[in-house]
Amino acid sequence: MNESTDKAFLGHPRGLATLFFTEMWERFSYYGMRAILILYMTAAIADGGMAISDDEAAAIYGLYTMFVYLLALPGGWLADKLYGLQKAVFIGGIIIALGHFSMAIPLDETFFLGLVLIVLGTGLLKPNISSIVGGLYPLHESARRDAGFSIFYMGINLGGFIAPLIVGYLAEEIGWHWGFGAAGVGMLFGVIQYKMTQKYLGDVGAFPEREGTEEQEKSMQKKIRVAVFIFTLALAGLVLLVLLGVVTINPITIASYSAAAILTLVTIYFLYIFFFVQLSTENKKKIGVIAILFVFSAIFWSGFEQAGSSLNLFAARYTDRVIMGWEMPASWLQSVNSLFIIILSPMFGALWINLARRQMQPYTPVKFALGLIFLGIGFGVMALASWYVINAGDVLPTWLILTYLFHTTGELCLSPVGLSAVTKLAPKKLVGQMMGTWFMSIALGNLVAGLVAGEINEEEIAANPDQLPDLFTNITLFTVVAGFVLLILYKPIKKLMQDIH
Ligand code: GLN
Repeated sequence: MNESTDKAFLGHPRGLATLFFTEMWERFSYYGMRAILILYMTAAIADGGMAISDDEAAAIYGLYTMFVYLLALPGGWLADKLYGLQKAVFIGGIIIALGHFSMAIPLDETFFLGLVLIVLGTGLLKPNISSIVGGLYPLHESARRDAGFSIFYMGINLGGFIAPLIVGYLAEEIGWHWGFGAAGVGMLFGVIQYKMTQKYLGDVGAFPEREGTEEQEKSMQKKIRVAVFIFTLALAGLVLLVLLGVVTINPITIASYSAAAILTLVTIYFLYIFFFVQLSTENKKKIGVIAILFVFSAIFWSGFEQAGSSLNLFAARYTDRVIMGWEMPASWLQSVNSLFIIILSPMFGALWINLARRQMQPYTPVKFALGLIFLGIGFGVMALASWYVINAGDVLPTWLILTYLFHTTGELCLSPVGLSAVTKLAPKKLVGQMMGTWFMSIALGNLVAGLVAGEINEEEIAANPDQLPDLFTNITLFTVVAGFVLLILYKPIKKLMQDIH
């Protein structure tokens, strides 16, 4: 028996365990933040919060989550060109932990600095750790690699499940900054574990990609290092100016402009591919499908990612969470999505395989449509729940749990399917860029989620309670209609997809 099977992890290379636990702790810190950020920003000063208005806090939250996904693009690029995947993950982890520790200091300045650091660190860690997972398997072992990714996804959701329970409890019951610190301790565990077991990764992602001669490579790396240095300096300068109050930024305006900017960029990108890149008509049709799916993916995430904002605020303000005289922290409900993923994803995997065996596997656009419709039904539940809230007072958390059940079902219909559709539809030479573009749809969704959630404003709702059910009803209609549009478009899209399912 050789070393790699000797030290196997659930029948997979031992290196998968290294990545599983690193990602588990990284997601622990990320989802710990997601559970408490909006609650902290909107909490009154007397409650230790920042007393930021609902719409501004939701915009900041939307921008933060948008940047996390946008920075996956330069993060992946830097790993390829300069650091290599393994080192990028290590540096990313350290920066994330520093971000959390910065937030553990009870000052507004260190809070915002911490958010910037987490965005930078996650951009370096998240895309690259997934690439190492892929690299652990030889190219021909595609089924085993898929199984490896499923295990890895469990690590993600294990972190996502535990984090709100621990970080949320500390933040809401003991003090917000204990929560931020705990997320940092988790990330630190992850980094230490990573370093101690990094040897099992072997040389997968140990070096940047080799192009050209050693000489050329050295000079290019030097240029990139200088560029990274200048970028860091410029960013530090900007952060300093904002913190000193020399430059004031309005998060709501920036969020609206960013949405327009992403849309414009992506449109230009697709037009460029269509008109200026040498591609066969077949390939252009397939890329057309990616562009269509992009729009629906962005719509999906702009509903789904309200979990950390509007739904979280709903949990805090309008649910009755008292169990035997003790009030459960609102953030605990943020665990529900991950818990449902852990329970449901094996069932979904089996369902798709079973349907495929009977030649009944739905086509990608149908799965996307289902995803949107489930998301819409989830928001329908919220509309009903808020109708109860304004007529009869706080509701039980079961409403939110039911909403998250529908949302998770939608996520499982759309999220993994979208990723694999991109890899199948994109011509080989464009897979990397298309993946990056796909992440932009998630970034855009996160941002719009922040803007939509900003519509939930406690004072306005107090004056005009119907606002709450109206908002959720509108989201329901919008997403369900989007789902049906996709069903109507199913035939022409299927034609464009040609041999792809
Ligand atoms: N929950 C998954 C993760 O954190 C996927 C999130 C997403 O793609 N928006 O990795």
